Amino acid sequence: MKNWAGNLEYAASSVASPESVEQLAELVAGAGRVKALGSRHCFNDVADTDGVQVVLDGLPRSVEVDSARRVARVAGGLTYGELGRALEDQGWALHNLASLPHISVAGAVQTGTHGSGISSPALASAVKAVELVRASGEVERLEEGDGDEFLGSVVGLGALGIVTAFELAIEPTYQVRQQVFEGLPWETVLADYDAVAGDGYSVSLFTDYAGDAVPQAWRKVRVDAEAGPAPSSFFGAVPATQPRHPLPDMDALNCTQQLDVPGPWLDRLPHFRREFTPSAGDELQTEYLLPRAQAPGALQAVRGLAARLTRLLFVSEIRTVAADEFWLSPSYRQDSVALHFTWRPLQAEVEAFLPELEAALAPFGARPHWGKLFAVPTAELARLYPRFEDFRELVTKRDPEGKFGNAYLERVLGPIR
Ligand SMILES: Cc1cc2nc3c(=O)[nH]c(=O)nc-3n(C[C@H](O)[C@H](O)[C@H](O)COP(=O)(O)OP(=O)(O)OC[C@H]3O[C@@H](n4cnc5c(N)ncnc54)[C@H](O)[C@@H]3O)c2cc1C
Repeated sequence: MKNWAGNLEYAASSVASPESVEQLAELVAGAGRVKALGSRHCFNDVADTDGVQVVLDGLPRSVEVDSARRVARVAGGLTYGELGRALEDQGWALHNLASLPHISVAGAVQTGTHGSGISSPALASAVKAVELVRASGEVERLEEGDGDEFLGSVVGLGALGIVTAFELAIEPTYQVRQQVFEGLPWETVLADYDAVAGDGYSVSLFTDYAGDAVPQAWRKVRVDAEAGPAPSSFFGAVPATQPRHPLPDMDALNCTQQLDVPGPWLDRLPHFRREFTPSAGDELQTEYLLPRAQAPGALQAVRGLAARLTRLLFVSEIRTVAADEFWLSPSYRQDSVALHFTWRPLQAEVEAFLPELEAALAPFGARPHWGKLFAVPTAELARLYPRFEDFRELVTKRDPEGKFGNAYLERVLGPIR
């Protein structure tokens, strides 16, 4: 079996699909190496194993809303698309979504997946409790009040157990409008990035770093909080008169509705529609998160590489992510700007270029997205994440035999036992 992008053939010897938590617990207890597989949207081997991969598709796909506590207990194997529909049908919503609804909740949370919004933290920030099957087969529940163990486990890279359910914070459903603006001058972006990124509930800039202007700015506003007429300009950029795809040559049919038409949060916050292939399809991805205050310097550094990017890049997306408290979250205690790169499917060339890109971004403290391609070595990761060593200790404590270990964790965390 391959990952979504098709750039990785998993080495797993078999794939199991338990039909109950009890079956899953039994399977894990008796397994050698075992790893949960979500919707396969990572671009690296984080979800691979030389043992058994476990998919949670056979477990009940439950969403139980507790409106008094404003939480939903959600099966980990659900996709955000399924979860969004179930919540919306009951009048509820999540605070944000990634660019696509196709990804599993557990896989996204475990890798620190995020959307965009200056005051909107990563998707993991909604987690109030997590239920996991440990290496022993024991089922354990960790809650927000549990302190360190909870904070270390939510963004856990699949290293601490198999998540069967989360309790997620929910809020009453809301409507969102989105508009694409074209031709945003770089000068404005660099002069006051916070003003640009903060002018809306979720703002994304799409660019190839060449020229004097950012080709597209996607602005999403909540109708409840930010009602007002559609602006005729966004910092000098003009509203697109037709729906746009972030990639200039692709059909906007794959994208969620634009042109300022209000719609439910789940149909506007992702850029891509559930029924269609998101993004380019045949592609690779890389992303770095760094302190938002460093955005102008970091963006200038990447602009300096524009000529080198041309051959490799489909498009880059610039977003913001508010800080959270999860040890391995790329936005741990840091209001962040996220520089995402959608690459052409040229893996060898992209991997050869990454050290150059990372060297340009290193002075700004760039933390890589765990689910995408990166080359940052362990020693640098340990410097970038204040609780890195604590996470390594947690892994040793909770999975002493390395059942959930894999080549990715050994490479990224270093030898841990
Ligand atoms: C087209 C595209 C667009 C994307 N857009 C965004 C975006 O907007 N923002 C962003 O931040 N990222 C984005 N990503 C990256 C994506 O969100 C992450 O790669 C995410 O991890 C995908 O979830 P998954 O279920 O496919 O994970 P998988 O690749 O299946 O697994 C990822 C990790 O999660 C673990 N895992 C999965 N299920 C469980 C479980 N039940 N218990 C414990 N561990 C588990 C796996 O073991 C593995 O370690 C995008 C990816 C693609 C392909």
